[in-house]
Amino acid sequence: MTDSFDVIIIGSGPGGYVCAIRAAQLGLRVACVEKRATLGGTCLNIGCIPSKALLQSSENFHAAAESFKDHGIILDSIKLDLARMQARKSEVVGANVKGVEFLFKKNKVTWLKGTGHIDAPGAVSVDGTSYATKNIIIATGSESIPLPGIDIDEKTIVTSTGALEFAEVPKHLAIIGGGVIGLELGSVWHRLGARVTVIEFLDRIIPGTDDEIAKNFQRILAKQGLVFKLGHKVTKADRTEAGVTLTIEPAKGGAAETMDVDAVLVSVGRRPYTEGLGLETMGVARDNRGFIPVDPHYATNISGIYAIGDAIPGPMLAHKAEDEGVAVAELLAGQAGHVNYDAIPSVIYTWPEVATVGASEEQLKKAGTAYTIGKFPFMANGRARAMGDTDGFVKILADKRTDRVLGAHIIGPDAGTLIAEIVTAMEFGASAEDIGRICHAHPTLSEAVKEAALAVEGRALHI
Ligand SMILES: Cc1cc2nc3c(=O)[nH]c(=O)nc-3n(C[C@H](O)[C@H](O)[C@H](O)COP(=O)(O)OP(=O)(O)OC[C@H]3O[C@@H](n4cnc5c(N)ncnc54)[C@H](O)[C@@H]3O)c2cc1C
Repeated sequence: MTDSFDVIIIGSGPGGYVCAIRAAQLGLRVACVEKRATLGGTCLNIGCIPSKALLQSSENFHAAAESFKDHGIILDSIKLDLARMQARKSEVVGANVKGVEFLFKKNKVTWLKGTGHIDAPGAVSVDGTSYATKNIIIATGSESIPLPGIDIDEKTIVTSTGALEFAEVPKHLAIIGGGVIGLELGSVWHRLGARVTVIEFLDRIIPGTDDEIAKNFQRILAKQGLVFKLGHKVTKADRTEAGVTLTIEPAKGGAAETMDVDAVLVSVGRRPYTEGLGLETMGVARDNRGFIPVDPHYATNISGIYAIGDAIPGPMLAHKAEDEGVAVAELLAGQAGHVNYDAIPSVIYTWPEVATVGASEEQLKKAGTAYTIGKFPFMANGRARAMGDTDGFVKILADKRTDRVLGAHIIGPDAGTLIAEIVTAMEFGASAEDIGRICHAHPTLSEAVKEAALAVEGRALHI
């Protein structure tokens, strides 16, 4: 044994690195194992951050091409410099991952570079070197789910990782899967000029999201030009000289058809990644989808081994992983770490954005909970009109008896920022009336949240 720690965290994504910082703040001796050349995991390197950099750049490009003229700004010509856009994305990623390295140094977290393996409770080896530790936290994240029979080369048939790296805009991009990642990256390449066809097995997009929001979202994206082929599955992808020929069949049976495209993004979901950790030998339990079940203190079935983030059940989101990282660090330091899973927001960073928190209407119906709905369209919001961004609405669901906010669903400009107010309200057990009585600055998009809260009682002022 070369060194010993209070905690060794395997994986430096938002779960692992935040856990490391919090544990170090609480006086624990902490090491974090990361095999990638840079810290920050999927999120900072090939996930949230690079995708948002490209979403921002492509949004700017699209606005310059399409909506500047509405504001009286006439550009004689605009040209895409994709190489520069990609370089900027890499700079953004570089600044973020370096930031985590700086925070590790500042908080005296040791970065053990290499692949971590659990040898025994209390013993981790990294590329052959052994370390002793009181606690082990698995924060190894997730990977893209492959589709049987479809070979990914990350050039023409890609996962999200390859779709962040295209050196040219594909003429026709097929996206297999109508989930968050597919729609965000589909929006990027569509804004930059690609024809985009989304092929989805189910008869709806963004499964699990409030139905009304999903339907409106699809309508808005279709209006923007994305083509949806719902209720269909891709059964084959043959590489051709020109690109890829997809074989597509109706999900419920029927004649197959083919579609020629230049590139294919396979985005049918993500699965936990725990390869090579030694979980089988250690007897660490996993469920039938590969997730590691944990108790409310993030303990696995093996004493001294904990797990957080995408590797455990729950929404696969960076902020959920971060909050679990903080909670488990606090629990190990003898504090009362806790995550409220009823108030975890989820955002789709297209334009307009989609943001949700808490229960959907369908979930409330299923649970037999009586609820009231308050809705307010951005069309009636002064700021949204000034921005020229009037698509969408705010929808608040409140308990019919107590008026307590049970869920909120927003489709509209900056929905991801607007949802934070409702998350805060839910954390404090607020009623819709509470939100309606709070003073909101005018003219702001947040007034649409206040109006939706007032609408729960049928007393919205501007509609
Ligand atoms: C394209 C894309 C966009 C996304 N956008 C968003 C978004 O906007 N908002 C959001 O909330 N979420 C988003 N996500 C999801 C988000 O990235 C994940 O939920 C989050 O990264 C999970 O964090 P984690 O700490 O559990 O694991 P990860 O971030 O996956 O990190 C795990 C790390 O562990 C390392 N590792 C694994 N095994 C070992 C080992 N044995 N030894 C050493 N190191 C190991 C890996 O190299 C990796 O760096 C996106 C994902 C993708 C792919």
